[in-house]
Amino acid sequence: MSESSESVAQERVFAGIRATGRQHIGNYFGAIKNFVALQDRYQCIYSIVDLHSLTTLTESEQLSNSVFETALDLIAAGLDPNRCILYVQSHVPEVSELHLLLSMLVPNGWLLRVPTFKEKARAQPDNVNYGLVGYPVLQTADIILYKASRVPVGQDQLPHLELAREIVRRFNHHFGDMFPEPEPVLTEAPLLLGADRRKMSKSYGNQIDLAASEAESLERVRQFITDPQRERKSDPGRPEICNVYSLHALFNADERPEVYRKCTQAEWGCVDCKLQLGNAINDSLGPLRARRADLATRPDEVWEALAEGAERARVIARSVLAEAQERMGLPPARSRVAKDAAALS
Ligand code: SF4
Repeated sequence: MSESSESVAQERVFAGIRATGRQHIGNYFGAIKNFVALQDRYQCIYSIVDLHSLTTLTESEQLSNSVFETALDLIAAGLDPNRCILYVQSHVPEVSELHLLLSMLVPNGWLLRVPTFKEKARAQPDNVNYGLVGYPVLQTADIILYKASRVPVGQDQLPHLELAREIVRRFNHHFGDMFPEPEPVLTEAPLLLGADRRKMSKSYGNQIDLAASEAESLERVRQFITDPQRERKSDPGRPEICNVYSLHALFNADERPEVYRKCTQAEWGCVDCKLQLGNAINDSLGPLRARRADLATRPDEVWEALAEGAERARVIARSVLAEAQERMGLPPARSRVAKDAAALS
């Protein structure tokens, strides 16, 4: 191994993945695919962030199942618990304590001006809880609990990472350099639109799940809005404005020039074009779906892998948390125990 590749291998990457249950192809191309690739270049730590999900209480009843479904998709897509640390956020309680310590440093104004907080507060006016306000503090604790120096993010998440960097600078300024300022590993990913041309999202119900059946995938592709000017099969289409064509690029790249020609020269209709795309999606996702179905028959193994991931994460987390406590002036646990014993005698 060369010196430079060795140093890259020792750098730590952290990413949090919301426990939203079944992941869709937008999640895959926007994040998961990149997480898989990073496993071979860095020491990767991936957390299924269930505590973050509690900010919206409607999710809590299904939370455990959502964590499991998320884990199934991640492992089936290629996250290998032997090549990365994959765990559930709440199984590493040190993150909650570091979150509390950081919360003593972060001015309220920083948090109240975060656009995501304002959006969520508008979306659930009856439940503007502390967790929503403190979300970026917990996110920062997630990252720096492992002294991770890199975080894979999309362009739209850069402001969140900048806030984490600001919190790190504040900590380091008050208590001495301890944490690296996490740098982004930018994910070059196409923005995937759903069937209704809005961003692909479970909350819009316009997505194609990685775990969807072949019939469900074909049906969802059939619902995709195409070029509105193409009313009849004999009308030439405009692939450049059609979302079906964009998906051909991801799942059916070899045939894309032919798709373009047939569309612009009105050689086929949108029904045939969608059928070819749906079949290409099913072919492409077939192996992942087979791995997922197999894993789903062995839930104990999945939970065990997550528990082992949490144990490995806690080895790092305990030592980083102890260092942060010491730097912030908290007495070492041993002297606290001694004082307790003295008080009782
Ligand atoms: Fe879109 Fe295909 Fe229809 Fe052209 S033929 S408008 S690319 S669905």
